[in-house]
Amino acid sequence: MVDVKKIKENVSKVTSKISSSKLPAHKHCRICGISISPNAEPRVCKDQECIDQHEKNLRNEKQMRIWMFIFFGIFAFIFLSSILRQLM
Ligand SMILES: [Zn+2]
Repeated sequence: MVDVKKIKENVSKVTSKISSSKLPAHKHCRICGISISPNAEPRVCKDQECIDQHEKNLRNEKQMRIWMFIFFGIFAFIFLSSILRQLM
C-alpha cells in the first residue's frame, strides 16, 4: 500500500529545501565559490587572490572583446567589399 503520509512528508521536505535554498539572498564568489553578501560588487569574496583573479578575468574579457571587434571589422570589410565589387 502507498503511504500517503510519507509521500506528503517527503514532498514538504523537498519543497522546504527548495524554498530555503532560494530565500536567503546570497551570491557566490566567482572565483572560489564561497557564499558572499548579495550586495558584494564585484562578485568576489574579500580574498586578495580572488580579487586579483577577478581583475585578470576582466582584463581578459576586455581583450577578448577588442579582438572580437577587430575580427568583426575585418569580416564586415570583406563582406562589404565583395558586395561593392558585385555592384560595380
Ligand atoms: Zn573567493
